[in-house]
Amino acid sequence: MTKQIYMDHAATTPVRKEVVKEMLPYMLKKFGNPSSLHSFGKEAREAIEDSRRKIARMINAGPEEIIFTSGGTESDNLALKGIAFANKDKGNHIIISKIEHDAIVNTCRYLEKQGFKITYLDVNSEGIVGLNELKRAIRKDTILVSIMHANNEIGTIQPIEEIGKICASRKIYFHSDAVQTFCKEKIDVKKMNLSLLSASSHKIYGPKGVGFLYIKKGTEISPIQHGGGHEFGMRSGTENVPGIVGFAKAAEIASENMPKENARLKKLRDKLIKELLKIKDSRLNGSMKNRLSNNVNVSFRAVEGESLILSLDAKGIAASTGSACSSRSLEPSHVLMALGLKPIDAHGSLRLTLGKDNKEEDIEYVIKIIPEIVEKLRRFSPKFDAGSICK
Ligand code: PLP
Repeated sequence: MTKQIYMDHAATTPVRKEVVKEMLPYMLKKFGNPSSLHSFGKEAREAIEDSRRKIARMINAGPEEIIFTSGGTESDNLALKGIAFANKDKGNHIIISKIEHDAIVNTCRYLEKQGFKITYLDVNSEGIVGLNELKRAIRKDTILVSIMHANNEIGTIQPIEEIGKICASRKIYFHSDAVQTFCKEKIDVKKMNLSLLSASSHKIYGPKGVGFLYIKKGTEISPIQHGGGHEFGMRSGTENVPGIVGFAKAAEIASENMPKENARLKKLRDKLIKELLKIKDSRLNGSMKNRLSNNVNVSFRAVEGESLILSLDAKGIAASTGSACSSRSLEPSHVLMALGLKPIDAHGSLRLTLGKDNKEEDIEYVIKIIPEIVEKLRRFSPKFDAGSICK
């Protein structure tokens, strides 16, 4: 049987056994509706409030500042639309970076149609937002700045504390999409001057379909989903009790393991990067210094990303690419293009994101297989033409 190595942890992670164990009672026996007054309802309510307290403590927030949602996408939508609609009398200008996740970019495209003005900030060749560019972009009518904590494709970590200071001094709301960093990097919403922060459970060995939005007390924000007034009136809909309980458990374990696990992953990551860069015409995408501990993103010139992923899959390795074909659009990843990559490099990008079950021997296997595949793919497509690749 072929070896199976999962190296796509930025996409999603398996649920931990301990997390499933914690969730099961809330599906089988403690299944009450948390809004019900009887004891079934009360125990479900207590489980939610307990989870809220645990999660709030991890980011130095108050429990009443945590709104449970269906995940990162919903949290991002609520943050951006909620602030935009509640503050349009103050201004209609929002600033984001060019490398935000689609949950942010496409929400901004929607807001543009509603009359809001969006500035898409350039990033440098490593994917970092410039503080002076940000200062220059701020206008009298700017109501919100949204910059992700770390990028999901290239793993670049942004100077959130410095950005927070700038926003606070101009009295502008500051949101950060921390889907890739919650429980992987330290987060202190007060130190970072954050008004809003998005996180998701399925990136940290928790269940899919649950996340939260931190909303600083006093922030003027409108709900985008209306109904029975759940989650302090910010997000109506019967709460996903097992999901929330599982999310809190996963977060507890991940934050406890964080320092040790990050050090372990960094070693594996650096070995992988070093070996992959020995391949001819390869380049590292993103920053070496300000980078998530589990992220490797390398481009192989004149290799088609989708073929690379399929060839790796045939060898039991699960990875990802920013190539156009795999993302079902003609353009290669907007993130790689924002770094200034030529299409011939952007099409040949490979993202390997490591996780708790990856061991040294997996790295050995991958660094043996990838050079062989790259060579084979280059041999079969000597007249590589990035422009015609997806036609
Ligand atoms: N933001 C970032 C940076 C992400 O990486 C993702 C998921 O890949 C999301 C938002 C969306 O999160 P979810 O899958 O929980 O909707």
